[in-house]
Amino acid sequence: MSLLFGPMHQHIDGHKEVTAHNEIIHLDVPEIIGVALSHGNIEANILVKEGDHVKIGTKLAERDDGFYVPIFSPVSGTVKSIEKRPSTSLKPVMHAIIENDFREDTVELKTISEEASKEEIVEFIKQMGIIGCGGAGFPTYYKYQTDKCEHLLINAVECEPYITADARMIEEKSYYFKTGVRMLLKASGARDCIICIKEEKKDLIELIDLMFEGDKRVSVLKLKDLYPMGWERVMVYEALNAQYERFPIEIGAIITSATTAIYVGRATITGLPINEKIITVSGDAVKSPHNVLARVGTPFRNLIEACGGYTSDEVIVLSGGPMMGTSLRSDEVTTRPAVNAITVLTYMVYEEYPCIRCGACANNCPSGLRPVNIIQALKAKDFDRLQRLKVTDCVECGLCAYNCPSKIPVTENMRRAKRLLNARKQS
Ligand code: SF4
Ligand code: SF4
Repeated sequence: MSLLFGPMHQHIDGHKEVTAHNEIIHLDVPEIIGVALSHGNIEANILVKEGDHVKIGTKLAERDDGFYVPIFSPVSGTVKSIEKRPSTSLKPVMHAIIENDFREDTVELKTISEEASKEEIVEFIKQMGIIGCGGAGFPTYYKYQTDKCEHLLINAVECEPYITADARMIEEKSYYFKTGVRMLLKASGARDCIICIKEEKKDLIELIDLMFEGDKRVSVLKLKDLYPMGWERVMVYEALNAQYERFPIEIGAIITSATTAIYVGRATITGLPINEKIITVSGDAVKSPHNVLARVGTPFRNLIEACGGYTSDEVIVLSGGPMMGTSLRSDEVTTRPAVNAITVLTYMVYEEYPCIRCGACANNCPSGLRPVNIIQALKAKDFDRLQRLKVTDCVECGLCAYNCPSKIPVTENMRRAKRLLNARKQS
């Protein structure tokens, strides 16, 4: 049986105008780069050591435990140390600290022809270490190892407030986007490709229509400006009028973010791994919000300084957007291929009041969950009830906390309940 999802009626202020049209800042590559040698929290096998000379594209580490994810050097230079540092995944992970020699030497780059077979393209994407660039970081090749795909969905919805990096990337790198979509269509084996985008992005829709003019396999689906319209279950429902239980491939669909498609296109044409990203630096506590093109491994601080710095001393720095982003303890953490935004918000202390049972959290939950009952089960450590209440269906969209009049950190409670249930399953 497919999972149902709850109501989708929440429009939240996007604040996109602050970065949607201003110029992209091209950040100088710093002298010292810190590359996380992990995939999320999973430590990778380290292939370099202190003193090694590396080039752009030198493999520094690889995850190879069922998922294969190589990690490449974004600069040429010398490995000064391998050490544990805080990262965007919160847990400190090993980093390669590289002193940039500014020579921009590259390894021998291997491109791929658009005439390559499905299998060759999937293997190429795997070896290039392409991962979900919209924040999730899932290895892209993995979803494409199927012959059951009928529809490829490209997620250009970008529904989190403040973030405009995807839209700016499509505008700036349209040739890579077009090539990437065509390569992914072939890799998927799908008969059509639906590019999902919010209806108000009229200029972008026009540009995409022009890009694929004459290609009957590719169409654009205009979606309403509701949150979280970019959630995969909602997108699949809107595009295909179908629901699935665990993975979209159950109903013949693969979903890939627009930015990931751009990096597939870029790798196809140049042979380069993801060594730079356009990242939206925005929020109410950064002086001059912009999209910033930065080399992977650049400290967040450099990007924030390029945007004029903080507006006050009391700020919260998030990796990602304000609804689903991760709050960081330090702006010294460095950018990674999956990072699409840095959001800086004014630090505010909210007084929490008792739950008034208004139902706003449940009424706005796109997963159809009942957060109050989940919080009760969490307090009682009633794991069977947490399971029955399907807390693992929570996508951590943040709407429950956003709508709670009592300022209860409802989403944080959902995260805790999920962590607890997972830990219990693993013990
Ligand atoms: S974060 Fe809250 S609103 Fe969003 S899916 Fe989870 S419980 Fe539902
Ligand atoms: S929105 Fe807040 S106050 Fe209302 S029922 Fe949910 S937790 Fe209670």
